[in-house]
Amino acid sequence: MVRRVVRRVVRQVVRSMARRGGGVARPAPVVRRGVARLWAPWRMTYVGGAGTPPGCLFCRTARTRADRPALVLARRPRAFLMLNRFPYNPGHLMVAVRRHAARFDQLTADERTDVIDLTALAERALAAEYRPHGINYGANVGRVAGAGFPGHLHLHLVPRWDGDTNFMPVVGETKVLPESLTRTWSRLRRAIQGLARSTDRGASR
Ligand SMILES: [Zn+2]
Repeated sequence: MVRRVVRRVVRQVVRSMARRGGGVARPAPVVRRGVARLWAPWRMTYVGGAGTPPGCLFCRTARTRADRPALVLARRPRAFLMLNRFPYNPGHLMVAVRRHAARFDQLTADERTDVIDLTALAERALAAEYRPHGINYGANVGRVAGAGFPGHLHLHLVPRWDGDTNFMPVVGETKVLPESLTRTWSRLRRAIQGLARSTDRGASR
């Protein structure tokens, strides 16, 4: 009974989102052979390109100095760390090289160093602030592989927790993100500043 009511309410919400241009599609099966899959219908807005400015997101983000609106968490001379605006989970991060280059074999050694250095920083910040039980790493290289911006290399980190495929995607074809992007940005930015302070203290001993 409760399950039926939840399903009806969620379907109403999903239908009203679709009417407003959310572009919700039918979900893939959430559980297949015991492996839980994340289902994030709000990403269809992004995949469909609605409201997305033209040009390369990562080149634009590399140029801006406004970290908070651009959701940038940390920068190195040749790479930067940012939040994904259409996350699969809270704390879904991306590490991108600054230069518009498509693959690891096109990067210089210094660029590869900065990308990996920021990946390690992202791991530490997520561990300090969110304590995930696991992390999915991935890079989609080329449009056929699913890259939204296929010419600009970026690595995804998606933190995972036991049970993060909850009942909402199963019964309601939608998923509830438990916090806003600005809150996630503030928490991770603070965690990164704290890590930098502890590294400085360690170095001065
Ligand atoms: Zn680019």
